[in-house]
Amino acid sequence: MIQLLPDHIANQIAAGEVVQRPASALKELLENAIDAGATNITIVLSDAGRTLLQVVDNGCGMNGTDARMAFERHATSKIRQLDDLNAITTFGFRGEALASIAAVAEVTIKTRRQEDETGTQVVISASEVTAQEPVACAAGTSIAVRNLFFNVPARRKFLKSDSVELKNLVAEMQRVALCHPGVAITMQHNGTNLYNLPAANLRQRIVAIMGKGINQHLVTVQVDTSVVSIKGFIGKPEYVKRTANEQFFFVNNRFFKSAYFQKAIYNACQQLLPDKAYPVFFIYFELSPDKIDVNIHPAKIEVKFEEEQIIFQMLYAAVREALGKFAIVPSIDFDTEGAPAIPAMRKNVPATLPPLRIDPSFNPFEEDKKTKPLPGISSGTSLKGWEKLYEGLSHSRQFETIPEEKMPEQLPVGNFATERAICQLKGKYILTPVKSGCMIIDRRRAQQRILYERFLQNLTHPQQETQQEIFPQTVTLPPVDYALLESVLDDLSQIGYDIRPFGNNTVVVNGQPASFPAMDAAQLIEELLYTLHENAAGLKTQRHEKLALSLAKAAAGTSGEPLNMFEAQALVDNLFACKEPALSPEGKPTLQIITMEEIDKRFLK
Ligand code: ADP
Ligand code: MG
Repeated sequence: MIQLLPDHIANQIAAGEVVQRPASALKELLENAIDAGATNITIVLSDAGRTLLQVVDNGCGMNGTDARMAFERHATSKIRQLDDLNAITTFGFRGEALASIAAVAEVTIKTRRQEDETGTQVVISASEVTAQEPVACAAGTSIAVRNLFFNVPARRKFLKSDSVELKNLVAEMQRVALCHPGVAITMQHNGTNLYNLPAANLRQRIVAIMGKGINQHLVTVQVDTSVVSIKGFIGKPEYVKRTANEQFFFVNNRFFKSAYFQKAIYNACQQLLPDKAYPVFFIYFELSPDKIDVNIHPAKIEVKFEEEQIIFQMLYAAVREALGKFAIVPSIDFDTEGAPAIPAMRKNVPATLPPLRIDPSFNPFEEDKKTKPLPGISSGTSLKGWEKLYEGLSHSRQFETIPEEKMPEQLPVGNFATERAICQLKGKYILTPVKSGCMIIDRRRAQQRILYERFLQNLTHPQQETQQEIFPQTVTLPPVDYALLESVLDDLSQIGYDIRPFGNNTVVVNGQPASFPAMDAAQLIEELLYTLHENAAGLKTQRHEKLALSLAKAAAGTSGEPLNMFEAQALVDNLFACKEPALSPEGKPTLQIITMEEIDKRFLK
């Protein structure tokens, strides 16, 4: 009763595993091209790969016999014996991709080896070779897959819309392109060029695929050990996405998915990420091929690592270090023992008002008490000396410093007002002595806090003047972004932004608030949308807070150059005039204090 299945049926069954959709066929063809040593690959698609899916490479090519053999099941040039499986460095090795594709489509292959004068053309339809003949063709291989699943209607029906299938095709291409930056790749769909990726280094390749915007947000990850080498990039925590689509793991130049290693990265940037945000990463593992098993998944998308726990730890440490090096995690570990306690975000506790620094009885209209500017006071003068000038004046209480015990306890502020030496670190931090030690202020977060409170103030008490642009800029947006932005245009106008719909998903920025530093319109909108998206869910409930937060982040995000002394001092002053100076609007600390004891301890040795 038992019979061997005819080849074409066996192939069709196997095809079910290997080729589920156009994207899986593309993956196999691309991998073959890379395995063949191609440095230039062209992908031509029609109707999201349904009617045509063609890959042209300049790799090693095949002779006539191999061109025919390649379509047999278990035909492979890549392994000869079982041992070879443990040292796989090629993508393919099962020898079933071409056989499977040819079982469910009409395939034409043209191939020529560099050293041969003429090439070979083979035409196969549903596993039947219908023609084989010599042809003149370029060195390398061109495989055209037409009418995929023409003989498997059930499969064909399962295909999604063209846009979904095309998205999958692009994703497959990206996975290959991201681990072979030296290979030039072009992708065309229905006659238009989707991608044109020249040979490049890794960072350039990532930018070419993901867009220019990503470049400044990438931080290098690198660690080399005897077990594994880990290289790549992680996006800074401010550059997070709403999906995990921009997360890539590669091992020995092969894309794979791993919830386990993903966890290592999430753990490493845990406190830095907003809720439901996905960090962006491109991580490349290199290790001896016998320490991994790639043969556990038909599409080879999962990989088993022999020493996965150790690698987990290394990945975690490498990402921490990378973020730390770029001062994204404090490089002095503040959450270790003995560090001063900075309050965590107090979500439901109402903000306490700082004590007023004014004399309530002071009346500026009483002639004899009116403050007159005193000559010779420059902003550089220390407050202590400055105060002395007022000694004996009846209204000197106006400038009284607050007795320390009356300071709100959440403010880790010493008597910084009396010691005004300020210095800056790489334009990122402002250092100033305080009674208990050295205070380090995160400039960006401090700016966010200051701007946040001002924007919030202006949203609730609109009275903003607009500075009209001389050259209004238009910005065109994807439809989703446009809709989101449109929903806040009214609020924006209340605080002085003159942004108007311009038709066709385009807005025009006519003016910005006079009292804030003007920003490049495109950048303003990009940053704004970015934060709005992050907060889209909560937008209705706490509209003003969210908007103020978005704006504050957008406005503070642009500053890069070091401040001058006055600006730095103003920043410190403005920060401490805020209701909650110690926390950024997102509840992260704006400042840290290294205590005297800690500093002393460092000099004990
Ligand atoms: P595998 O890649 O697992 O070996 P495939 O069915 O994908 O199996 O390919 C079968 C064989 O055909 C390969 O081993 C290789 O020798 C040859 N081949 C396939 N595609 C190409 C190509 N683009 N250039 C050169 N040789 C190729
Ligand atoms: Mg293959």
